[in-house]
Amino acid sequence: MPSIYLQTFGCQMNVADSNGLAHQAWSLGCTFTEAPEEADILILNTCAIREKAEMRVYSRLGQLKTLKRPGSKLLVAGCLAEKDRAVLRRKAPQVDALLGPRDYRRFKSLLAEWGVPTDLPPPQAQARVPSVEDAPGEDSPLEYAHLRALVSITRGCEKFCTYCIVPYTRGPLESIPPEEIEAQIQREIRCGAKEITLLGQNVNSYLHDGLDFAGLLRRVGRIAGLERLTFLTSHPHDFNRQVVDALADVPAVQPRLHLPVQCGSNDVLKAMARLYTVEEYLEKIAYFRERLPRWALTTDLICGFPTETESDFLKTLALVERGTFEYAFVFAFSPRAGTPAATMEPQVPNPERLRRLQAVSAAQNERTRAFHESFIGETVSVLVTGPSKKDPARMAGKTGHNVTVVWPRRADERREAPGASQAVVDVVIEQAQTWGLVGRVA
Ligand code: SAM
Ligand code: SF4
Repeated sequence: MPSIYLQTFGCQMNVADSNGLAHQAWSLGCTFTEAPEEADILILNTCAIREKAEMRVYSRLGQLKTLKRPGSKLLVAGCLAEKDRAVLRRKAPQVDALLGPRDYRRFKSLLAEWGVPTDLPPPQAQARVPSVEDAPGEDSPLEYAHLRALVSITRGCEKFCTYCIVPYTRGPLESIPPEEIEAQIQREIRCGAKEITLLGQNVNSYLHDGLDFAGLLRRVGRIAGLERLTFLTSHPHDFNRQVVDALADVPAVQPRLHLPVQCGSNDVLKAMARLYTVEEYLEKIAYFRERLPRWALTTDLICGFPTETESDFLKTLALVERGTFEYAFVFAFSPRAGTPAATMEPQVPNPERLRRLQAVSAAQNERTRAFHESFIGETVSVLVTGPSKKDPARMAGKTGHNVTVVWPRRADERREAPGASQAVVDVVIEQAQTWGLVGRVA
């Protein structure tokens, strides 16, 4: 049976898509390898959100040109396959096929074209499919990866924020029927998942036969065996009190909310077409903070969006300095061809985008560190992600707030599938850093 090498770039949505592709290949009897030179089929599931993500894919494609065996096939899937279809056809002859995020139902027939038999019964053996994820801090060794499962609840996005390529690559919004979502969650729980993340570009836009996101949270929250539930990403325009009330009522929901504000200036928010003002954002989070004290609020920020003035930038900085967020992903604006912001004037020069990014990141780091310090002396429940990549003498995991924790690894602890008792560990926190927490097993 053919063996597959699968590498994933980009966001958790791509990781979820890779899991789906890998599952389809596995159901046809394919095996998986982490060595591209040994694979019969190589798949890159790609990202186009920023230029840096694209550059990494193109550089990997260059390497695979020499690593790929004669006769093996190379598939480029994901957002870059959609966005750069013509460029890839012209400039990357080593690529045998392209599948954008809306084409995945063609995956099995493509495998059939490449000689994978599709009429065999599914394999008896249980196998966990690999997901070579490259989001920093988010990947974990295969033996632990199944503990955290990603379940898509929507596809596509119709918000058309002026900087964003996603609506062009992933297409219009579709909400997945709740029965399908429940069935997938039940499957993941049977396979050992302790934490389920509901995924969508804007989960708050979920709507299926009158069931909205708040209703879906309540419905999913009743699934037997569900221990931890979380969700990504929320949009401030559609996030509402009903969702906050559901979060307060569903015991499995973990204490974290990712609500990207993008910037602290109303003029820039308008140019971004984000559909809310800073005041409206703050009003929504005031209710959230009141009902859910001690949750972690995280956000995304874009620095150097076109038209952003020094005074706009200072408003973003002030929002961060005020301690609004426990953590922020801070990005420099990256023009995406075909989006309105790519040609908006004036563009902010690159060095200035980076200066603003560094100032905002430094301010956020202080706030994040203070948040982490608040855990010193506490015993926290940690979902194990595996041995620490930086220091294999330590184990690592994530708290319900999604904070990384490391602790000394017992001499007898090996990289093998953890039993249920090892999946969640109580850790006493002794030190706080900007990146996370250090402790010892309670
Ligand atoms: N759907 C989510 C939302 O609305 O926030 C996330 C979409 S995107 C995968 C994740 C983040 O990337 C965005 O929140 C935004 O901060 C950032 N991003 C998207 N396009 C960008 C661009 N052209 N330049 C810089 N950052 C960008
Ligand atoms: Fe992109 Fe905006 Fe849709 Fe998020 S909501 S995916 S930023 S268009």
